[in-house]
Amino acid sequence: MTEYSRLFHPFGFLFPHPILENGAMNITDSRLRKTTRSRIKLFGGIGAAIGLALVIFAGVHTLLDSTLEDAIKRGGEQKAKRWLQFFNTQMPELQTLVTTGNPTEDQLDLIESTVQLGEVFLFKLFDSDGRKIIVSDEARFGAEYGDKPNPKATNVFETGISNISINDGTQKPNRPDVYVEAYVQALDADGIPFAVLEVYIDETSSFTLFHAAFDWLAVALPLLCAVIYIAPSIGFLARTAQVRTREQEVDILSRFDVLTGVLNRRTLTAEAGPLFESDRRKRRDVGVLFVDLDKFKAINDENGHEFGDNFLRHISAILSNNLRGTDLVGRIGGDEFVAIMPAASDQQMDSVSRRILNAASTPFSYKGKTLTGSVSIGTHLSPPGQSMDEALHAADLALYHAKHSGRNLAIRYFEGLDTARQRRRRIEARLREALDAGGFELHYQPLHHCQSGDLAGFEALLRLNFDDGEAIPPTEFIPVAEESRMINDIGDLVLRMAVTAAKTWPDHLYVAVNLSPAQFENGTLVDKLIALLDELDFPASRLELEVTESLLLEDEERVAEQLSGLKSMGVSLAMDDFGTGYSSLGYLWRYKFDKLKVDRVFLEGYEFDSDRYRKIIETIIVLGHQMDMQVTVEGVETTRQSKLLKTLHCDQNQGFLLGRPMPADQIKALVDPSYADPAVANGAAPATG
Ligand code: C2E
Ligand code: CA
Ligand code: CA
Repeated sequence: MTEYSRLFHPFGFLFPHPILENGAMNITDSRLRKTTRSRIKLFGGIGAAIGLALVIFAGVHTLLDSTLEDAIKRGGEQKAKRWLQFFNTQMPELQTLVTTGNPTEDQLDLIESTVQLGEVFLFKLFDSDGRKIIVSDEARFGAEYGDKPNPKATNVFETGISNISINDGTQKPNRPDVYVEAYVQALDADGIPFAVLEVYIDETSSFTLFHAAFDWLAVALPLLCAVIYIAPSIGFLARTAQVRTREQEVDILSRFDVLTGVLNRRTLTAEAGPLFESDRRKRRDVGVLFVDLDKFKAINDENGHEFGDNFLRHISAILSNNLRGTDLVGRIGGDEFVAIMPAASDQQMDSVSRRILNAASTPFSYKGKTLTGSVSIGTHLSPPGQSMDEALHAADLALYHAKHSGRNLAIRYFEGLDTARQRRRRIEARLREALDAGGFELHYQPLHHCQSGDLAGFEALLRLNFDDGEAIPPTEFIPVAEESRMINDIGDLVLRMAVTAAKTWPDHLYVAVNLSPAQFENGTLVDKLIALLDELDFPASRLELEVTESLLLEDEERVAEQLSGLKSMGVSLAMDDFGTGYSSLGYLWRYKFDKLKVDRVFLEGYEFDSDRYRKIIETIIVLGHQMDMQVTVEGVETTRQSKLLKTLHCDQNQGFLLGRPMPADQIKALVDPSYADPAVANGAAPATG
């Protein structure tokens, strides 16, 4: 209610100032309490209005009663005076009668006839001293009067003010139900009073008539008042209720996340603070849970924002359902949620995390589309005394680690995480620097034909060092580059460097370049490659692109289109690290891969379980050949392995035994025998690199 409407409404005092009610309230039942309060006020207000109407009813009734009495009295007086006038004109000897007290026969006749006329049923005549001279119905019997003066008559004679009273005759004989007794002065022709006449007038009929009308008024008037007061009151109260609802809506908007219904970031942090405080006093641990949707951007891109929004709602419902009533849960970013669990334990947080992970990775359907998503979780059990910011930071670090450890995981914070994060930051900074100012280097690892042992080509492998010269493994910086979206620029650079280097090699040697799934995301890969090969005048047939199976889990249609685009360009497609991922031969068949690169884990396995791994490798090679693919085996480190591959009819092999990845200038010496020198040949041997 605004201050204005509160002040100007007649019942404004019933409604307390809104600001006084906005104390800190529990999130869940504050709405309920407000609604109850509004209702109490609404009923209280209506009750007050009804009470007031009753008071008005009683007041109006009394007022009407006295008005009715006044009216009858005034009417009585008039009638009495009119009758006196009439009586005076009919009986000119009235003054004589007053002095003698003995009416003549004519006067008696007149007296009898007048009292039978109209409403006057009796009259009495008093002299100047108030002594009774005549009573109309006793006049003929010659009653003796005149001893005791009537004080009312005396008073009327002296003051000239009529005395009128209304009387109830229901209990009296020979009296009408309602009658008026009116004492009026009788004046002579000069206006001098000479007597007082008391006239009895039957007012039963006018009283009944008036009363009927006034009774109706007595009901109608309060009703009217009630309508006048209650109608705006109800309107007002309804408006107040509306304002309340609006207030509640605003409250909900400002407290809760509109999309998911959980707390918003501001409210969550505001309400988590006191929780940390109270658990610190009680020496209890507070659990913090950071939850982030895996690949939410892709979900949005591929299924549309409506689907994405509903998936967010689905996840927030999972969170709410798996937390206790005393826990707080809020959405703090696009696809990031935080839960604060007072008085928590590690086991409890682990079990909550497990339940959330399970529920989030069950298929979710919306409008005919189904998706199996997942979330990553970072948890931290904050000991008493740790600040809220520190606790949130720790859980965030754990989440970050979960994300980079393969997703769909819950990881508890541990101390080493800070250093891991710092290192990632350092790597990211170094990547940026290398992209801007140079620093990337490509090494080339030879690939040999298994049967002839001849050189077939080289795989380009990216190298990056910190400023101090310390090498950063590509298994570490490639994921950071993917995460920070630098991989596209880096990938372009790699392709250009690799093709530029390969141009200097003999025509029969190809160059293989690794591609990240991220390079397929914006759909420009094919066009960029065509332009590059055109610019550098390099045949597509000498370029091989290595992709991993994870690419095929991405948006199928978009990837399929680009893979077939690459195929029609004439580049060769190799499935890298085959056997470590989902290994769907169906996919390879569908996308017409030219080559399978069997991961080096199989040769590693061959070292400790030869028979079994020999069979597996053999099966893969046979299957690959049946599907018209060449098979390369990676990780050849020993001659025993090399011999095995030869017997199994593998097409190409690669590994430290045949040559480590080496800088471009060493390759030149290797591929051009005229350039050869023993040092370089040794450089390609397993011992170095
Ligand atoms: P990959 O494509 O499977 O590359 C082969 C990796 O195995 C290379 O590691 C190579 O040095 C190593 N290797 C080769 N032969 C042997 C051997 O006999 N024994 C052992 N133990 N290892 C061997 P590297 O160079 O560290 O590269 C690691 C991964 O980084 C690559 O795995 C590839 O996935 C990624 N990578 C490297 N360069 C690029 C690039 O330019 N773009 C992209 N997207 N990824 C790259
Ligand atoms: Ca590779
Ligand atoms: Ca590989």
